[in-house]
Amino acid sequence: MTALAPYACDPEASRGRHFDETAPSHRSHFQRDRDRIVHCSAFRRLEYKTQVFVNHEGDLFRTRLTHSLEVAQIARSVARNLRVNEDLVEAISLAHDLGHTPFGHAGQDELHACMQQWAPNAGGFEHNLQSLRIVDKLEHRYALFDGLNLCFETREGILKHCSLRHARSLGDVGLRFINKHRPSIEAQIANLADEIAYNNHDIDDGLRSGLLSIEQLLELELFASHYEDVKAQFPSVTGRRLTAEIIRAMINTLVVDLTTQTLANLQEHQLTSVEDVRLAPQIVAFSADMRRQATDMKRFLMANLYRHYRVQRMTNKARIIVRDLFVAFMQEPGLLASEWRRDDADDQARAIADYIAGMTDRYAIAEHNNLFRM
Ligand code: MG
Repeated sequence: MTALAPYACDPEASRGRHFDETAPSHRSHFQRDRDRIVHCSAFRRLEYKTQVFVNHEGDLFRTRLTHSLEVAQIARSVARNLRVNEDLVEAISLAHDLGHTPFGHAGQDELHACMQQWAPNAGGFEHNLQSLRIVDKLEHRYALFDGLNLCFETREGILKHCSLRHARSLGDVGLRFINKHRPSIEAQIANLADEIAYNNHDIDDGLRSGLLSIEQLLELELFASHYEDVKAQFPSVTGRRLTAEIIRAMINTLVVDLTTQTLANLQEHQLTSVEDVRLAPQIVAFSADMRRQATDMKRFLMANLYRHYRVQRMTNKARIIVRDLFVAFMQEPGLLASEWRRDDADDQARAIADYIAGMTDRYAIAEHNNLFRM
């Protein structure tokens, strides 16, 4: 393996874990983190959580698990090219969506609204913060500590965004939001790999579901140019094979652009340590032109897929399910298993949010049926 660049995170120089543990043998601290994430129960639940389509709508759509694997794959290849720590980007990528509620963003928005209403001082619900909460507190697998006791660098990468109010209560990982510093290069890579993965697979799933058409997508510059290329190269290709060729080419273009621009940024800033990375401007970035095209993709998906009336109908149903469950549990904590009951009202609201956020799509639907169907 090629030596890591001086701006890469070195597991031997990690800022460490909350609870001191003996160093792992035959694997690095970041490999251990990655392994702990893969073995945790929140990771397994990603299989039955939605990206855009609800889990039972079809076997071929992305779930949060396959999304996380795609992010990890893209992030690792970028990391290898930049000579930064692949194990760390993999750990961050695999953990980045652990805190997502059932039913994607709809579930999260409703859970936030419920928290604001029932526990206005408790700080609402944020999925990034929830991912951190899972790895710091909610997984119960180890005898000596709650959570997974991950390294600072992994936790820093998981906490992609965070409000200032929360940042102040988070200690070490919250500081960068207060000081306006950047996270490690590895965290920056995982973040952009996430964007590359979801933009492309949502187009793929949108076409597969029939909610998007090729004709519509041709208004997108990035899609149109690759459509022309594929058609020129393989004039007779149509259907799924055409879509797959276009999407693989788009992912490749985005990854190559990201890598090239980032290498240029590294050259320009001459970073010699992880501390330099934290103080420098954003290093991992698309070129200006590709940034514009990637943003166009996001806007296109927002207007044409996420706001499609058929997606909106599911979103609406999802919000009702989440709200009904939250309100029922708040009004009658006796409906909860004892491990989720609390004496204080704010603590109770948080425990209910943790419980509901941990549900898979199908479990939430089953709980709703259990509680509301005669
Ligand atoms: Mg994601």
